[in-house]
Amino acid sequence: MTEQRNSVPNPSQPGHEDSLKQWIDLCHDFGITEIFLNAAASATPEAPGKESELERLRTKEIGICTRCKLHKGRKTIVFGEGNPAADLMLVGEAPGADEDIQGRPFVGRAGQLLMQMIKAIQFERGDVYIANVLKCRPPENRPPEPDEIKSCTPFLWQQIAIIRPKIILALGTFAAQTLINSKSSISFLRNRVYEMPFGRVIATYHPSFLLLSPQKKPEAWEDLKLVRKNLSE
Ligand code: URA
Repeated sequence: MTEQRNSVPNPSQPGHEDSLKQWIDLCHDFGITEIFLNAAASATPEAPGKESELERLRTKEIGICTRCKLHKGRKTIVFGEGNPAADLMLVGEAPGADEDIQGRPFVGRAGQLLMQMIKAIQFERGDVYIANVLKCRPPENRPPEPDEIKSCTPFLWQQIAIIRPKIILALGTFAAQTLINSKSSISFLRNRVYEMPFGRVIATYHPSFLLLSPQKKPEAWEDLKLVRKNLSE
């Protein structure tokens, strides 16, 4: 990651004092008590091959999907986006209303908080890969149903197999239970490292939950520090 893509203000740039203050306010708002510098670079020469594999998965395999009933109410399929050679992959539950319109994951309020969360460990949106377990929006954002999960999860496994991130951060109960293959609560699953056959998973609270329960942000910060530590190993 270059200095400019890093969210830590650069003292050699004009106006750095203002941006430094904004950055510290952002950290404070998130309950952050430590500062990390120099996130690992994540762009690798593998990226173009992975990009085309992801594109083939999106266009040829998923296509204009009608495998489950969610296709009837969706506006767009939210495949996922980001750095195909990312060390860190973020996995949420399913697109919400904003994502369904824009066709991009985590672009609403929860997405804004998620971006603050990853900035706190020195990642920008373009450094990571972001996907969901379900690629289509459930009506009224209701929880995913078994037939939808059965139809859609093979595409998440394929995304993970192509990207091969060092760490997958599962956002919220549903993503954590799916990735860790567990029925335990998120408060039990979080803040541990799971060595799964497809890679390492760490779980944390979903940003939508953190918007409603900001007192849980310090716990999410502990989870993010665990991500950072495992990425540096
Ligand atoms: N919530 C999710 O789980 N995923 C999104 O893409 C947006 C909100």
